[in-house]
Amino acid sequence: MNPLTLIRPNIAQLIPYSSAREEYSGAAGIFLDANEFPVGTYNRYPNPEAKTLTSVLAAQIGCTENQLILGNGSDEIIDFVQRAFGIPGTDSIIVCPPTYSMYEVYANINNLQCIRIPLTADFQLDIPKILAQKAKILYVCSPNNPTGNDLENIEILLQNFEGIVFLDEAYIDFSPNNSKIELLHNYPNLIIAQTLSKAKGLAGLRLGIGIAHPELIAVLKKIKPPYNVSQANQELALQAVQNWDPASVEPLIKEREKLVEALNNIAWVRRIFPSVTNFILVEMNEADRVYTFLTNRNIIVRNRSKDVPNTLRITVGTPEENELLLKTLAEFQ
Ligand SMILES: *Cc1c(COP(=O)(O)O)cnc(C)c1O
Repeated sequence: MNPLTLIRPNIAQLIPYSSAREEYSGAAGIFLDANEFPVGTYNRYPNPEAKTLTSVLAAQIGCTENQLILGNGSDEIIDFVQRAFGIPGTDSIIVCPPTYSMYEVYANINNLQCIRIPLTADFQLDIPKILAQKAKILYVCSPNNPTGNDLENIEILLQNFEGIVFLDEAYIDFSPNNSKIELLHNYPNLIIAQTLSKAKGLAGLRLGIGIAHPELIAVLKKIKPPYNVSQANQELALQAVQNWDPASVEPLIKEREKLVEALNNIAWVRRIFPSVTNFILVEMNEADRVYTFLTNRNIIVRNRSKDVPNTLRITVGTPEENELLLKTLAEFQ
């Protein structure tokens, strides 16, 4: 399958915006082209390709620079892909709930039909039902939010689904399993998204990463606003990724296991779904009441009962925060 045939015709034909700065290849010069203020620290527009950050990320991820696109969070990457491939009012996407809700939110904004193929009872992909549908983009979130587990059989989908497979790896750094990055060699219809928002601890920064075949990345770059990643963002992200230690997630994983053990000892907690992430989905008696009780005590968790009956999704916090959560829950009656 050649995924380039799936691109919206107007996007395939689009001539992207090009600044005078991009057309000039020298390093230093007198820049009188972009109506910037001539002095200051952040007076200049940032590099549209975030070149330094991109080269460091490519080396860390194990891909080439032309396989990367950076976004204002991975939410922006989700949107770029929909706008590159989805013809408004005509095309469809597939989501596998319970999962991350932004795929469907963007589909509504972009006027794409959203086909829902729920995960199976053990929160795995329903491969036959997915393959029975036709759609431009299939969203696979692994590890999945809110269920917390890794999804299996992604390669079967890549082999058989006749569209783009968007694999969201927002939580991959917490998982004992590796990124599926090496599948990019065999499957040109794969787009992987990663983010600095979760294990890298930089949700406030807004930096998302799209990884795909260079020809797909080139198309996504035509849609990208030229300065979507600010100079400050590029600098702080560069520092953070250069200093990041993969072992930094280990204390958090230990905290998660402690939290799971303590919650399991509460009589009205029915089940905790196994998690490879920094959150847990907890099934309990009267989740709505527990949710309101916690909110009234200024502890905010996520009520996911609409998707998975009687569940709250709890993010693992600091040891002190988790301690306070448990102490508060002990007072629930
Ligand atoms: C948190 C999260 C993201 C992150 O989005 P950003 O825009 O990068 O902050 C993406 N996908 C999933 C499944 C998430 O849970």
